[in-house]
Amino acid sequence: MARMETRSHTSTGGLRATRVRRPVVSHPREGSPYERLRRSVQRVNIALGATDLVLLAFGNASAVDRVAGVMAIKPSGADYATLEPDDIVVVALATGEVVSGSRRPSSDTPTHLALYRAFPAIAAVVHTHSACATAWAQAEREIPCLGTTHADHFRGPVPVTRRLSEREVATDYEAHTGAVIVERYRKGGLDPADLPAVLVARHGPFTWGDSVQAALDNALALEAVARMALDTERLRPAGEPIDEGLLKRHFERKHGPAAYYGQPPVPRER
Ligand SMILES: [Zn+2]
Repeated sequence: MARMETRSHTSTGGLRATRVRRPVVSHPREGSPYERLRRSVQRVNIALGATDLVLLAFGNASAVDRVAGVMAIKPSGADYATLEPDDIVVVALATGEVVSGSRRPSSDTPTHLALYRAFPAIAAVVHTHSACATAWAQAEREIPCLGTTHADHFRGPVPVTRRLSEREVATDYEAHTGAVIVERYRKGGLDPADLPAVLVARHGPFTWGDSVQAALDNALALEAVARMALDTERLRPAGEPIDEGLLKRHFERKHGPAAYYGQPPVPRER
């Protein structure tokens, strides 16, 4: 089961008391490849549902098995807390057809598929309508990098997509949502490893990572920096973004070949 690590923080400056909860996704021990993938996706969705990022059923998490060529995702409209591994739906990465599972996959499935197809290094995707990140998405504004908390997670402003056209909304809406995200990265020359979070205009955030835990952590980090940026803009409207050197230093000490933050990785239990 997902266990909950609870840490209490008060945001600096006392602007707003913030309780940060970081659920830890435990790893399944055995089973067939699909069972392992299913359990991993079950657990991350239960963990996601236990955060403050999700209201009602507005959110979903998925993971991919690239060797098997499949993606597993939460079923549409399901309650997070009562999810069982068998509820998780497995679809073919290439076609989106259900290959295992009796429930309907999340309606956002085509968006998740578009991200896995375009970004080959990512292993998991989380979508929420978390309040502060969604506020930036609704304002159609990228989240500026105003401090080191942001720079620890995202190498620069969190991008926002263009709006979907009427035609894109009318047909294959969810696939077009994925397409505008990919378009934003390709046209902007953005690296999904540097910026594992995006805001879909008038909609909300998608985050990803090289594991279900990383995708969930990025969703939590995104909401935190979105809230901090809102508060910072209130205190200092039109303030400058963080200096490039400080941004680079904070991102690179946590990510990439020269990373030195934290402890060396230990092999994961299989
Ligand atoms: Zn949504």
